[in-house]
Amino acid sequence: MSEKIRMNTPLVEMDGDEMTRVIWKQIKEILIEPYVDLKTEYYDLGLKYRDETDDRVTTEAAEAAKKYGVAVKCATITPNADRVKEYNLKEMWKSPNGTIRAILDGTVFRTPILVKGVTPLIPAWKKPITIARHAYGDVYRGVEMRVPAGARAELVVTKADGSEERELIHDFATSGIIQGQHNVDESIENFAKSCFQYALDVRKDLWFSTKDTISKKYDHRFKDIFRDLYESTYREKFEKAGIEYFYTLIDDAVARVVRSDGGFIWACKNYDGDVMSDMVATAFGSLAMMTSVLVSPDGNYEYEAAHGTVQRHYYRYLKGEKTSTNSMATLFAWTGALKKRGELDSLADLSSFADKLEKAAVTTIEEGTMTGDLAAISVLPNKKAVDTETFLREVNRRLQIL
Ligand code: NAP
Ligand code: MG
Repeated sequence: MSEKIRMNTPLVEMDGDEMTRVIWKQIKEILIEPYVDLKTEYYDLGLKYRDETDDRVTTEAAEAAKKYGVAVKCATITPNADRVKEYNLKEMWKSPNGTIRAILDGTVFRTPILVKGVTPLIPAWKKPITIARHAYGDVYRGVEMRVPAGARAELVVTKADGSEERELIHDFATSGIIQGQHNVDESIENFAKSCFQYALDVRKDLWFSTKDTISKKYDHRFKDIFRDLYESTYREKFEKAGIEYFYTLIDDAVARVVRSDGGFIWACKNYDGDVMSDMVATAFGSLAMMTSVLVSPDGNYEYEAAHGTVQRHYYRYLKGEKTSTNSMATLFAWTGALKKRGELDSLADLSSFADKLEKAAVTTIEEGTMTGDLAAISVLPNKKAVDTETFLREVNRRLQIL
């Protein structure tokens, strides 16, 4: 075999839990290490080690992602009461993804992997649709009250100089409810920056939608911030790259998305992104085929699968069963990170290896060899369900002849 592909800068490797931790190791051993002289800075985000380090390892891993710029993360357990018992935890540690997101201050982009045989529920969709969800504020940081009959509700802003600005919300003749929401310009700007940057990276059109006709100050602020940043910093770059920034009302966007053939990024406010990402993921066919990347406004990238640690499969694995867990999203987290590292370090052979590996994986499925979850929904006549390791070895066989 020819020499292994060299790397300059290490990837920040964040190991994780349960079935995905098992798959993590197999992907590296079967599909990456034989070809790449893999350089990583390893952080064990498995729950046991997070507990041992009082979760410091998560913060250190996120800091490393900031330092090196590219990270790849395995799915991790977010502890709940059951997990505290199961792992005898000192504390119910916070979600690692939440911690990492808070440190990198990023936006999450989710994109489905499309393969022949797994047809989107919306037949017009031929290319993936990426959802970018703003991860701060609005209803997720809302303050709510029930209001008794006869009460007056007002918005009151007390400024730094002590002066007040007031606006009547409603005079409640009968009882009702009230909600206060907020966002901050800086977070919206960072969201916009990450979206424009990512669109340039992947050379895809960027759509953004809000309800600014009704929400003339709140949603309109989002629209203005996006527009101002586009005009001041990104218009020229977009034109050079041959891509477009397109703003429209959320209802118009929904109609256009359904009629489209895909192939763009759809930036959504927090709530819209929550709802629309589940809709898009489901319509594309499988959560196990959804990839995810966290992009920070200053250009750091953290790649992962959108699914969890696949606990139910792991318990079967522990009993000695062979499981048919889909490794595609985790594999594409690796290829995404390797590709980005190759791009940043000008290592064309590293990027092209990652492309080939993706192609080998997709071809394997399109030739009929896939894990059980896909075999259950694929329309290919010759489909065959195999276990996780057999699938990876089949990918390797195709990789060798590409
Ligand atoms: P999950 O791991 O995504 O799995 C839910 C179910 O979806 C599985 O039982 C399986 O269905 C199917 N599935 C998901 N991924 C699959 C794959 N790659 N191949 C085949 N089937 C797949 O969600 P969960 O069971 O709710 O969560 C388990 C743990 O993951 C939790 O501790 C949670 O905190 C954590 N989690 C982590 C992340 C992350 O790190 N990003 C995200 C979500 C959840 P069948 O059993 O029917 O085959
Ligand atoms: Mg949701």
